[in-house]
Amino acid sequence: MKEVRLNNGVMMPAVGFGAFQIPENETERVINDALEVGYRMFDTASAYFNEEQVGNAIRHSRLKREEVFITTKLWVQDYEYNDALRAFDKSMKLLGLDYLDLYLLHKPYGNYYAAWRAAEKLYQEGRIRAIGVTSFSNERLQDLFLHNEVKPSVNQLETHPFFQQQSANAFLQQEGIQHEAWSPFAEGQNDIFNNPVLKAIARQHEKTVGNVILNWLNRRNIVVIPKTIRKERMIENWNSFDFTLTDEEMKLIAGLDTGKSPIYDDMDLATTKHLSTYKIHE
Ligand code: NAP
Repeated sequence: MKEVRLNNGVMMPAVGFGAFQIPENETERVINDALEVGYRMFDTASAYFNEEQVGNAIRHSRLKREEVFITTKLWVQDYEYNDALRAFDKSMKLLGLDYLDLYLLHKPYGNYYAAWRAAEKLYQEGRIRAIGVTSFSNERLQDLFLHNEVKPSVNQLETHPFFQQQSANAFLQQEGIQHEAWSPFAEGQNDIFNNPVLKAIARQHEKTVGNVILNWLNRRNIVVIPKTIRKERMIENWNSFDFTLTDEEMKLIAGLDTGKSPIYDDMDLATTKHLSTYKIHE
């Protein structure tokens, strides 16, 4: 499977597996199925409340530590410096790992400068191989790296055919920061799997709409972490990279961009307030 080289030289799989919104009692089975299919990169978060189950499945797989790439995220509630260090230790304990591949600041709110400095310290101590952010606008991201030591390696952004993140993608490329897509299927919004343009392209290649979306993101050098609880869809999504979209098809998909999220707007005041004050622990 293709890998990308991060700005600190670390190799990251271009295709991984998202662990958001999986029922707690199913997580181990789901991750185990994904490992069997071939996925080696897993994206979780303290706010997903399933780090322990993800860690258990990886441990039971008996794969060598260096054969898997694990991402987890720090929640906004823990963005003060010492809280961030404590939250990292808690995540590592739940995951059962002695080092982490990628640690992300989960949202661009609150004291993310203090959180970043804690992540930098953990990175410099060798406890994390790469650090990054999610859902940071170009402006916030630039400000963060201009006023700190370590440049983020990754920005994980909502990215799919309806919200293509063209300007973020251009900025990230220019700055050497890896673009990773969250919700590559828009969480199914706007009836994405029945979109006529995507369906016609899928038919042309005897593939599925899911295949077309993941192939298109991969073609734009965007790392993908699709989520599914069904093994047959894990296999389907894994098999998205054995065909080439034509330039004409790339243009047709480009035409689906609405420039905004069908899920939620990270900069909307009510959303910002809700997420900024959402607590994941006492
Ligand atoms: P997603 O991957 O865009 O979509 C998941 C949905 O698509 C589920 O309903 C799944 O259903 C369905 N699905 C998956 N493969 C399919 C296929 N081949 N055909 C038809 N339906 C299919 O949504 P997501 O889970 O929100 O995003 C992926 C990952 O990104 C997350 O798991 C998480 O790791 C990360 N994420 C990060 C953030 C952030 O703030 N940084 C936010 C959201 C997500 P079934 O499960 O029933 O198959």
